[in-house]
Amino acid sequence: MLYNLLRLFLCEPFIESAALVSPGPLGGAARPRGARWGGGGAMAAAGPERPRSAALALLGPAPGAPSCPHGPALLFVKTNQGEEEGRRFYACSACRDRKDCNFFQWEDEKVSETRLAAREEYNRNHQPFFTHRQNVDRYKNFVLLPLSKRRFCQECQQLLLPAEWEKHSDHQFLCDITNAQLKSPSQLLYPLENKKTNAQYLFADRSCQFLLNLLIDLGFRRVLSVGTPRLHEMIQSKASQEEEFNVRSLLLDIDFRYSQFYTEDEFCHYNMFNHHFFGGEAAREICRKFLCEGNGERVIMVTDPPFGGLVEALASSFKKLMAMWRETEKEDHDNREMPMFWIFPYFFESRILDFFPSFSMMDYQVDYDNHALYKHGKTGRRQSPVRIFTNLTPSMIVLPEEEGYRFCTVCQRYVSSGNQHCEICNSCTSKDGRPWKHCVLCKKCVKPSWFHCNNCNCCTLPKHSCEKTDIGCFVCGKAGHKRSACPSLSRPRTACQPDKKKGQKTRKRVKMGICKRLAMKYAIFSKRKVKNKKKMT
Ligand code: SAH
Ligand code: ZN
Ligand code: ZN
Ligand code: ZN
Ligand code: ZN
Repeated sequence: MLYNLLRLFLCEPFIESAALVSPGPLGGAARPRGARWGGGGAMAAAGPERPRSAALALLGPAPGAPSCPHGPALLFVKTNQGEEEGRRFYACSACRDRKDCNFFQWEDEKVSETRLAAREEYNRNHQPFFTHRQNVDRYKNFVLLPLSKRRFCQECQQLLLPAEWEKHSDHQFLCDITNAQLKSPSQLLYPLENKKTNAQYLFADRSCQFLLNLLIDLGFRRVLSVGTPRLHEMIQSKASQEEEFNVRSLLLDIDFRYSQFYTEDEFCHYNMFNHHFFGGEAAREICRKFLCEGNGERVIMVTDPPFGGLVEALASSFKKLMAMWRETEKEDHDNREMPMFWIFPYFFESRILDFFPSFSMMDYQVDYDNHALYKHGKTGRRQSPVRIFTNLTPSMIVLPEEEGYRFCTVCQRYVSSGNQHCEICNSCTSKDGRPWKHCVLCKKCVKPSWFHCNNCNCCTLPKHSCEKTDIGCFVCGKAGHKRSACPSLSRPRTACQPDKKKGQKTRKRVKMGICKRLAMKYAIFSKRKVKNKKKMT
C-alpha cells in the first residue's frame, strides 16, 4: 500500500536519503490517486483530518521488527507537516501494493496476544503450498514421465503430476513439456511484470549473453544471482550442456515458482529488501558456503532489483551479503569488497553511490525482453536507461565495440558512441547515451534538450513554467504560491538566523527533487504493460 507513494516519492534523494527523519514535505496535490495512504485498515487510525502533506521516510530494517509473510517488516516514519517527530510504523518490505500484502503496525502499537497469534497463523498460511523440498521431489518424478504426461498448469504456474490433472481440469495448461523447457523456466513461467511486487523484467538474450561473457572474461567462476533468474538459467543450462563450462550460479529470488526447477543448492527463496531467507538457517548456510572462494573460484554478485525498490533497503541487504562473503575467509578479504554488478537505471546513480562510494556506472545499456521501453535503441525506440553499477575497475569492463562503445583513454572506461568527452568537465558526461552539452553557467554538462533558464537559474526543459507547477507548491503542497515564496520555508529563516543554511539546503533538495521526480514519473508511469502472450500448444 504505502509503497505506491513511497515508490513515487521516496526514491527521490531528498527524502529517501534520510537515514533518520529528515522529512521532505510532499505536495499533497501531487499525490497520485492510486496511493492509498490511509485508505483503510490500520491506517484509518490516523484520523479523519489526515493532513494532505505528509512525508514518509524509510528508517530501514529494525531489530525486533514484526513479521509479515515476507519476513521482517521495515520501519518507516510518517511526518505530517508542522510536526517535528513523526510517527513510526512497520510495513511490508517486499510489496509495494496493498493488495499483495497489507501488513501495517504502528511502532508504538500494543499488539494483543490474540492478534499476535492470529498474525502468526496468517503468516504460516501464506507460505507457498509446497515446500522447496517437496518441489524438488516433484521435479524428480516429473522428469521421469514420458513427454505425453508432462503438463504445466498456466493458471497455477505449476508442473503437474498425472494424479493432479483432474484438480486442474478447467485450467489452461501446456503439454509435452520438454527438457529444454524445464531448463528455461523463465520462458515457461509467466513474468510477474504487472505485479508491483515482482516487476519481473527479463534480460534480452543479447544483454544476458554479454553479462555472462563479461564475467567469465573477468575470471569469475561463481555467480550469486540476486533477482536475475534469466542469468542463472543461462549459466545452469550451459553447465549442463557444455563439458568445459565451469561457472556455477546460485539464484536468490522472491519468486518461489523457481523452486520447482532448482534444488536447494541452486535456488534460495530470498527477500532482497530485508535480507530474509525464507528457508531459514539452512538456506543461509547454503548461501554462505556458495560465497566461499574455495579452490580459487572467484565470486561475483549480480543483481537486478525491481526499479521501484527502495535503494536504501536494497543497499542494506547487499551490504549484508557482502559481509557474508567477507566472513568466509577472514584474512584475505579484510580490505576488499565482494565484486558486484548492480543493474539499475542511470538516474539512481547518486543514490547508489551514496551507499557504495566505490561503485561506478558503466555506459552499457541493459535491454529487456518483455519491456516495451527498455529495449535496444537504434530502431527509433527509446534507449534503455538501465546500466551496470560496479565496484570493479571501470577499465576492465570491456563493452562491445560492434555496438558502438569505445574506450576513452582519459576517463579510462568504455563509453557509448554518443558520449562525448567534455574538455571542461574533463569526463565523458552523458548519462543517457545522447551527446550532452556543457553549460558554463551551471558549470556542468546537461541533456541536449535542455537550455539555461535565467529565472530558475539552472538548465531545464524548454517547456517548463518557471518555479511554478500546476500541482501546487512543492514544499507544502498548497496552491497559490511558488516554493520560493513558501511560508513554511521562510518562517524558520526569518525567525532565527542559524537556520538559514538549513532552509537553503531544503530548497536545493526540493529543486533536485523536481528533476528526479520527472525522471521517476517517466520510469514509473511509462512502464507499459506488455502482457506475455501465452504459448499454447
Ligand atoms: N533481468 C533479470 C530479472 C530482473 S526482474 C533477469 O532477466 O534475470 C526483478 C527480479 O527480482 C525478479 O526475478 C523478481 O522475482 C525479483 N524480486 C522482486 N522483488 C524481490 C524481492 N523482494 N526479493 C528478491 N527478489 C525479488
Ligand atoms: Zn491449475
Ligand atoms: Zn561539461
Ligand atoms: Zn545551465
Ligand atoms: Zn508552500
